[in-house]
Amino acid sequence: MLAGKRILVTGGAGFLGSHICERLLAQKNEVLCIDNFFSSTRRNVEHLLGNPGFELSRHDVTLPLHVDVEEIYNFACPASPVHYQFDPVQTTKTSVIGAMNMLGLAKRVKAKILQASTSEIYGNPTVHPQPESYWGNVNPIGVRSCYDEGKRCAETLFFDYRRQHDVAIKVVRIFNTYGPRMHPYDGRVVSNFIVQALKGEDLTIYGDGSQTRSFCYVDDLVEVIIRMMATGHEVTGPVNIGNPAEFTVRELADLVLEITGSKSNVVSHKLPSDDPRHRQPDISVARQLLDWQPKTQLREGLVKTIAYFEDLLSQGDICRPHRQGVF
Ligand code: NAD
Ligand code: UDP
Repeated sequence: MLAGKRILVTGGAGFLGSHICERLLAQKNEVLCIDNFFSSTRRNVEHLLGNPGFELSRHDVTLPLHVDVEEIYNFACPASPVHYQFDPVQTTKTSVIGAMNMLGLAKRVKAKILQASTSEIYGNPTVHPQPESYWGNVNPIGVRSCYDEGKRCAETLFFDYRRQHDVAIKVVRIFNTYGPRMHPYDGRVVSNFIVQALKGEDLTIYGDGSQTRSFCYVDDLVEVIIRMMATGHEVTGPVNIGNPAEFTVRELADLVLEITGSKSNVVSHKLPSDDPRHRQPDISVARQLLDWQPKTQLREGLVKTIAYFEDLLSQGDICRPHRQGVF
C-alpha cells in the first residue's frame, strides 16, 4: 500500500525529471511520468518500471491531460540549446501551451504545481550575480528566444493563474545543472566535454572559452526542488536554484581533461549567437526560505558524472534521443 501522494511529473524521462521521479518514489509516492521522448529515451526510467508506484505514459504536454493528482512537477521542455532550437515553434508551444494545460489541470484538481523555469529568464544578464528581482536582458527575436521567451511567458501564466484562480504555484529558476542521465548527445557543455574526453575526441570550446557558467550537481538540485514543493500556499517563488561557484568554459574543459586523464585537444568553434557572457545565481532567497545551499563541488560532481558516462559508453551503441538522429 502506498502511503504518499499521487504526483505527476511531466518530462519525467528527461535528465532532471527522472531524478525527481526516483526521489518521489523513494518517499513512497505514486508517480505518473509523462514524456513525449523528444530529448530523452526510456533508458532513464527503465529501472523504475518494476516499481508498483510508477507509471510511464507517452504524452505531449501541448495536448490536454485529464488525471487526478495532488502535485505536478512541470519539467517537460527540451533544455539543451541544440534540442530547443531544432524545432523552435514546438519549443514555444511546449513551454506556453504545456504550461496552460498543466495549470488548467492543477486548477481543476486543486493540485500544487511547480514550474521548472530557468536562468535563461535573465537572458544575457547585465546584473551579476542574478537575483530574482532582476528582470533580465532577453533578445525577443533571436535563436534562443523560443526557449527564453517561452519560459518567461510560462512564468507569466503561472502568476496569472495564481492571481486569477488562486492556484498553488511554485516557480524555481534552475541554473546549469549536470549529472548522471544527461544524454551523451545532448549538446550541453558538460556532457559534450566529458564524452569528447572519454572518446579521445577534440573538446569543442565555443568562442574563446572566457564565458562563465555556474554548475550545480543534480542531487543538490533535486533536494531543493522537493523542499520548494513542500512549502505552504503563500510561497510562490520565483526562487533561483543552482550552485553559485562560477567557472569559465575553459576552466571546465581543463578540469574534465585533468579528471579523465584524457589526451584530447581543445579546439575553438564559433560562439553561437546570443550566448550569455556570464551566469551566476544569487541564491540568498533559497538559502533563507528553504534553508538550502548546494553541497557538491564541481570536481566531486564531475567525478560521479564521468563515472556514469564511462559506464554508459562501455555498453556500446547509445540510443540517440527520438528526434536527434536527424541533426
Ligand atoms: P531534458 O531534455 O533531459 O528533459 C526534458 C524532458 O521533457 C525530456 O524527457 C523530453 O523528452 C520531454 N519533453 C520535451 N517536450 C515535451 C512535450 N511537448 N511533452 C512531453 N514531454 C516533453 O532536460 P532537463 O535538463 O532534464 O530539463 C528539464 C526541465 O528543467 C526543462 O523544463 C528545462 O527547461 C528545465 N531546466 C533545466 C536546466 C538544466 O541545467 N538541466 C536548467 C534550467 C531549466
Ligand atoms: N559550450 C561550449 N562547447 C560545447 C557546448 C557548449 O563551449 O561543446 C558553451 C556554450 O557556448 C555556452 C556554455 O558552454 O557558453 C554552456 O552551454 P550549454 O549549452 O551547456 O548551456 P547554456 O547555459 O548555454 O544554455
